Amino acid sequence: MEPWWQDCYGNPSAIHTIYGRRARDAVEQARAQIAAALQVSSEAVLFTSGATEANNLALKGLIATFPSDAHVITTAIEHRAVLEPLKRLARRRVIELSILPVNAQAEIDLEHFQQAIRPATRLASIQFANNEVGTIFPLSQIHPICQRSGVVLHSDAAQMLGRFPLPLSGPPTDFLSVSAHKCYGPQGIGALIVPSSDSAPRLEPLLEGGGQERRLRSGTVPVALCVGFGAAVELAQREWASDHQHLEALATRLVETLCHGLPDLRLNGPREHRLSGNVSVSFPDIDGMALLQALPELAVSSGAACSTTSPEPSHVLLAMGLDHQLAQATLRLSVGRFNTIDEIDRAAKMVIAAVHDLRRLRQ
Ligand SMILES: *Cc1c(COP(=O)(O)O)cnc(C)c1O
Repeated sequence: MEPWWQDCYGNPSAIHTIYGRRARDAVEQARAQIAAALQVSSEAVLFTSGATEANNLALKGLIATFPSDAHVITTAIEHRAVLEPLKRLARRRVIELSILPVNAQAEIDLEHFQQAIRPATRLASIQFANNEVGTIFPLSQIHPICQRSGVVLHSDAAQMLGRFPLPLSGPPTDFLSVSAHKCYGPQGIGALIVPSSDSAPRLEPLLEGGGQERRLRSGTVPVALCVGFGAAVELAQREWASDHQHLEALATRLVETLCHGLPDLRLNGPREHRLSGNVSVSFPDIDGMALLQALPELAVSSGAACSTTSPEPSHVLLAMGLDHQLAQATLRLSVGRFNTIDEIDRAAKMVIAAVHDLRRLRQ
């Protein structure tokens, strides 16, 4: 990324200058790297400021083209960057919204999904994998159901890059939101994958102006961020197998150590076939805020890392049936590429000691 902030500081829209041309080539190379990793065409990759903007663009952009009685389906455990825009549009009666419930393992029922589709259903937004509890959604089964019913499928796939080997036929969805900083790329950049064929659903832009990204997203494209995004995605794809193995080994060890030290610990999310590296655990009879404060050395959160600083319990955990107390007494312990076994053991020890201390204090 460095040269694009220093020596080659050109505007990629300014194709008449040598700097502009070099910047543009760099952006196009990054676009090609992301397209190759996702098995889509380069034209399908639309740069945005992140998955939040990509979700907003897909949902609001599609809904703007729908008739007034359009019906939209989503799930109760989507990221707030999907739920908030959809709920606002439903409150304003722009759409009718069905929010599918999840079971205790944070899974949706496919039959339930099928039954929710009505003649007026135009769009479904179903995430690839849940960021809090690690559920992986069966999109390869959901997509054909949508196609048969003429429903457009959007998927928030911020958690997907580098965590899944993608099918060679491309992602099983029509629109896809991704984010660079979820796969070790820079913050402030992501992409919406927009099908580019003539028969693809139309989309209205959110940001209008110079029309830089296929007239669907205006604003000067941040060259350095694109370059970092492209490199991160290529690395993530190349290292997928070894990353996956490493994350699985660390997460398994973390869970086993924690369960051994705290037998009444509750593991959240599916037992198997889950997002690698994601560990969510709840501690009965513990004050969640006190627990977080007792672990200043650990970079953990109680719910989503990104839903501000409000101590509200996570909507994902509540949707799975946890009560407020248990939802608040939850730690999300994500392990990553650069973590070591030693760090995992130290973290587990700290958590076990903190829970024991808090329980002792109460007695
Ligand atoms: C992180 C995340 C987002 C938000 O992505 P940004 O690029 O930070 O806007 C959206 N959805 C999911 C599932 C996420 O994990």
